[in-house]
Amino acid sequence: MREEIARLMSLQTIDRQLHELGQSLSSVAGRVEQLRGEIETSQAELDRLTREDQQTTAARSQLERELADGEAQIRNKRMRLNLVRNDKELQALGHEVESLKEHNQRLEAEVLASMQAAEPRAPRIKELAELIEGKRAELKAAEKEIAAEVEELKMSIQRQRVERDREAASIDDALLQRYEMIFSRRGGLAVAVAKSCTCQGCRMRLPPQLYNEIQKHLQIHFCPNCQRILYYEG
Ligand SMILES: [Zn+2]
Repeated sequence: MREEIARLMSLQTIDRQLHELGQSLSSVAGRVEQLRGEIETSQAELDRLTREDQQTTAARSQLERELADGEAQIRNKRMRLNLVRNDKELQALGHEVESLKEHNQRLEAEVLASMQAAEPRAPRIKELAELIEGKRAELKAAEKEIAAEVEELKMSIQRQRVERDREAASIDDALLQRYEMIFSRRGGLAVAVAKSCTCQGCRMRLPPQLYNEIQKHLQIHFCPNCQRILYYEG
């Protein structure tokens, strides 16, 4: 049984290393993923602002054309005012000029409002474009930097898996299954030391009879509290 336990222990060592390698791999890949996400978010905001900017610029051009047109009409009517001698016609023209002026004032106010709304957009667009450029460079560098790291981690994982399979093949199937279940449920510690009559996995005091049995190494014993496989060093 001593041998069986020793094999489980070395399996546990490999499994823990594999677990750590897997975590390094996802944290390394996570850095790049985070950068990609940040770029995507900024790009979406930039696209939206650029669209808004194009739309309001087009709308403002339209307003400015209408304004110029209104001004031309006012000039026209003022010229006619100088030529007309009829009072009634004069009055009618005067009203038309006034209403055109009012209309133009509204247009001017709209153009101004549109300019004010665009004001904070321009620096944000510039800021976002610079931010994205910076992050893209960072991403490129990160991808290059981690490529080797990822490759190395993958190779280590592969090597460890081969060794793990070899180790696992020499362990009784039922015991292996039990070990794997405990390993995944008990935070990567399936085989625990029994020391000073205590399970070092969960710190519970073991019944003295069980503790004696464990020391004899005649069969595999489990902690009555945490179900971990117990072994005695000595
Ligand atoms: Zn325990």
